[in-house]
Amino acid sequence: MSSRTVSRRTLLQGALVAVAFNPMSRSWASTLEAGAVSLPPLDGELLMDTTSRTAASEDFGHILHRTPWAVLVPGSVKDIVAMVRFARRQGLKIAAARGLGESHSTFGQSQVTAGIVIDMSTLSTIHEVGEDSAWVDAGVRWHELLQASLPSGKSPPVLTDYIELSIGGTLSAGGIGGQAFRWGLQVDNVLEMDVVTGRGELVRCSRWRERPLFDAVRSGLGQFGIIVRARVRLVEVPPRARTYIALYNDLHRFMEDQRRLIEDGRFDYVEGSAVASNGGRAYQLEGVKYFTPGAEPHDSRLLAGLGYEPGTLQVSDGSYFDFANRLAPLVELLKQLGVWGFPHPWLDMFVPARSAESFVQEVLSQTTEADMGQGPILLYPFRASELTTPFLRIPNDRHVFLFSLLRTAIPPTPENVASLVQKNRVIFDRLTAIGGKLYPVDAVPLSTADWRRHFHPAWERFEHAKRRYDPDRILTPGQGIF
Ligand SMILES: Cc1cc2nc3c(=O)[nH]c(=O)nc-3n(C[C@H](O)[C@H](O)[C@H](O)COP(=O)(O)OP(=O)(O)OC[C@H]3O[C@@H](n4cnc5c(N)ncnc54)[C@H](O)[C@@H]3O)c2cc1C
Repeated sequence: MSSRTVSRRTLLQGALVAVAFNPMSRSWASTLEAGAVSLPPLDGELLMDTTSRTAASEDFGHILHRTPWAVLVPGSVKDIVAMVRFARRQGLKIAAARGLGESHSTFGQSQVTAGIVIDMSTLSTIHEVGEDSAWVDAGVRWHELLQASLPSGKSPPVLTDYIELSIGGTLSAGGIGGQAFRWGLQVDNVLEMDVVTGRGELVRCSRWRERPLFDAVRSGLGQFGIIVRARVRLVEVPPRARTYIALYNDLHRFMEDQRRLIEDGRFDYVEGSAVASNGGRAYQLEGVKYFTPGAEPHDSRLLAGLGYEPGTLQVSDGSYFDFANRLAPLVELLKQLGVWGFPHPWLDMFVPARSAESFVQEVLSQTTEADMGQGPILLYPFRASELTTPFLRIPNDRHVFLFSLLRTAIPPTPENVASLVQKNRVIFDRLTAIGGKLYPVDAVPLSTADWRRHFHPAWERFEHAKRRYDPDRILTPGQGIF
């Protein structure tokens, strides 16, 4: 939670109670005055108080702030169906958010101006953890699922670096992590979903049932439906993880080694980053091998042929859970320092391997320490063949690099934020020119034309799905696509 997050107790204490909506004045009414339309009966609550609405205008980016007219705290899936139908009839916009002020979007993607934000954190039941899948509410966080599945030795095959993200939120975006080279993204590992479409219909979809909806909603950026439940794949995992970290001075060698590792599959997880070193930059390889005690990884075999700088290797063992939850201590520290609540003009890119080295060189040479505010720069590849979700757009190449400038705006002034967002835009234009794609969870101002280009050649399919599942375009306006 950010320092500005408001607890649910505070929200409910300050709640205003409305029973109707007046379509003429476009405002809530506390009585069924002339011309007003009754709100549907709810198991949860619709909050209109300033505190709740202000909380819903925040996200991790702390850059854009759009205040909704109300916040739905759903008590059931039925509430979401009812409010989507109501919103459609009354011409209100509606979007899901992981939690009020707890959305990890960085540019208002879950915010709504003229309408309703749904606080998904109340839908957080883990219904079933089975042999090879778990059936969970969309508001469940990956962290919670992992805690429920690990006692039986199971885990989702791919985890985001930070596991406090919501399952519904990452399935709407993509969900990438260091296991993606083997498993694809989280959207490639969801088996079935319950979705409330923009028509207000609750539909179960999977590869075998309502396939067009299944394909639209995964990485659909909230445009076609609200995911309310998901069956996510689980795989068996050993209880321990050995982490190998080593530095490279040579970017070319670093990227070559990463590509080799994702092809030969000797590690279970491969990531990397650009780090500050001796007044310049070095490149940090991170490889992880899972293991069962008694069958420890063979270090020299795992490291054979890698060209990292001698003397820079660090090896450490920990539990699988601690590895998956490795960012928790850092996040706690950043919260204590107040930096977690600073603006985060992030930039997340998918870069085709054929141009990656020169593009990364160019961007890094123009990116100062001050531009990053000590935020990390991620750089790691995956195999495009493992990614099968139609609306997750990636460059056309065998290997694709995730290249992320995870900036913190220091100082957190509007001028600095505006300048960093502008830098993102300039880099985005260069990225587009080399055939790269955005991982659209970040802070880049995009026009409709940019979105068309982003989804090309799937734009018509995207638009068609919008007409089919959200014909009145009420869902998730904060993405700025329609
Ligand atoms: C610290 C941090 C670490 C991160 N690490 C990773 C990482 O390792 N890998 C990665 O892939 N991403 C990562 N992200 C980005 C993250 O995947 C996105 O922010 C994503 O949007 C999920 O965040 P969220 O669960 O808070 O959802 P939100 O930000 O609340 O929502 C994201 C979008 O999806 C919509 N949405 C939310 N829930 C639903 C739903 N149930 N149905 C339909 N639409 C919905 C929202 O309206 C919004 O448009 C990270 C972000 C942060 C801040």
